[in-house]
Amino acid sequence: MGVAVSLEPSVKSFVGTPARKMLIDGKWVAAASGKTFDTLNPATGEVLAHVAEGDQEDIDRAVKAARRAFDDGKWAAMRPAERQRLLLAIADLIERHGKELAQLETLDNGKSLNESQNVDIPAAAETFRYYAGWVTKNYGETIPSDPAFFNFTLREPVGVCGQIIPWNFPLLMAAWKLGPALACGNTVVLKPAEQTPLTALRLGELLQEAGIPDGVVNIVPGFGPTAGGALVHHPQVDKIAFTGSTEVGKEIHRETSSTLKRVSLELGGKSPNIVFSDADVEAAVQGAIMGVFFNQGEVCCAGTRLFVEQKLHDQFADTLAKHAASLKVGDGLDPETRVGPLVSQEQYERVTGYLEIGKKEGAKALTGGARAKGLERGYFVAPTVFTGVKNSMRIAQEEIFGPVVSVLPFKDENDAVFQGNNTLYGLAAGVWTRDVSKAHRVARALRAGTVWVNCYNVFDPAAPFGGYKQSGYGRELGRYALDLYTQVKSVWMRI
Ligand code: ADP
Repeated sequence: MGVAVSLEPSVKSFVGTPARKMLIDGKWVAAASGKTFDTLNPATGEVLAHVAEGDQEDIDRAVKAARRAFDDGKWAAMRPAERQRLLLAIADLIERHGKELAQLETLDNGKSLNESQNVDIPAAAETFRYYAGWVTKNYGETIPSDPAFFNFTLREPVGVCGQIIPWNFPLLMAAWKLGPALACGNTVVLKPAEQTPLTALRLGELLQEAGIPDGVVNIVPGFGPTAGGALVHHPQVDKIAFTGSTEVGKEIHRETSSTLKRVSLELGGKSPNIVFSDADVEAAVQGAIMGVFFNQGEVCCAGTRLFVEQKLHDQFADTLAKHAASLKVGDGLDPETRVGPLVSQEQYERVTGYLEIGKKEGAKALTGGARAKGLERGYFVAPTVFTGVKNSMRIAQEEIFGPVVSVLPFKDENDAVFQGNNTLYGLAAGVWTRDVSKAHRVARALRAGTVWVNCYNVFDPAAPFGGYKQSGYGRELGRYALDLYTQVKSVWMRI
């Protein structure tokens, strides 16, 4: 094992004791109940930090603070150039504290420093910077109407937004949520995932340093059914933005019907990554690796169903397995690590449970299929390549959320599209071919919110992202996210 990096002093002081507090109305406070919970380091299973455990009463205080900060009108009516300056300051602060935030993310989530440093943290900064640009460009329209009247539209903020985020990209998901919400003049109660609350809490300090007014962003860590549930049910919340499992997404959809809160949902996936025999095979292998082992496979758009044209199938699966076996698995703080531990014991059990299900269903693990060797503690699963999989098997239909790929053969273009679309989900898909016409046809035929051609897992804050079918609704990123965080007012004037 390589030598782990030494931790920044600011990281050392952020973890351990005392317990981290929650941010309500510009103040760092303990939970009303006084309770705390532990967040663990997935590489060791040891306690990393203690965190205030938010519940109904804390959510109520946070929502009331966000309500006041919205209803007094100062934030929404702030000069756009001034709000833009604040969002740009957040981006700068994230970059300035990049090393520290990356280490904190790796300690809390397990992901490799290589990824947290080069992907999560820079992308979070870029997201705030991108939405800073929109603050001054969020125009309404003038509408042609009877000349006796003047009709125009205003794009107004929705109000108080409850944002519930997952543990796979903790800081980046906070940025995807906060960036557009703040740009449009909303106020927020953010609930980070209970497995990974630390970078969101550190971000709260940076938001204060940037000058975000008290109450505009409140950050309440806690568990899903308690803190998350209280946010979903709170009558003074205007909108819920959720990223997480399809199961919880459906519950939120049901539970918000009584108050008709606006809802946007970014949920699970079982994305097809389709390799035609005319593809650049080496690039496709690298793309398949990136598609499924990036972030330990804990990625909602992971290319977990790898369809390979029949005549290329066996050779492709073997090459992929060799590459997968050579990926260095280990503590994320080791700079050589490519695949870190899964986030939690629960996730470890879920993923290894699916490995057993796969074997029982008759799939064969060309590599992996079990705990990573030589790592006695922590939640490490070996990168796994299954063959002998049918698209109807559970491992091909249910989201595993770990470093596990199923390689499946297909006959021709129609078969690839049919099998690719044969899933409840529709978050993303990949296509590998040198035939431009085929690439166009297949990209259009796949029912997914994102299609990558001859690439995978490429993102930009300007490009929309979201799901078809049971992968959710609403589009994050790009100008589309502005629709989630604004409502249109039509104003009539007699002239
Ligand atoms: P996973 O199964 O991958 O942990 P979840 O969908 O359970 O994903 O969690 C994603 C986020 O949703 C987390 O912040 C979690 O606390 C929250 N959450 C879980 N259950 C609920 C719930 N019933 N109501 C509101 N939020 C929830």
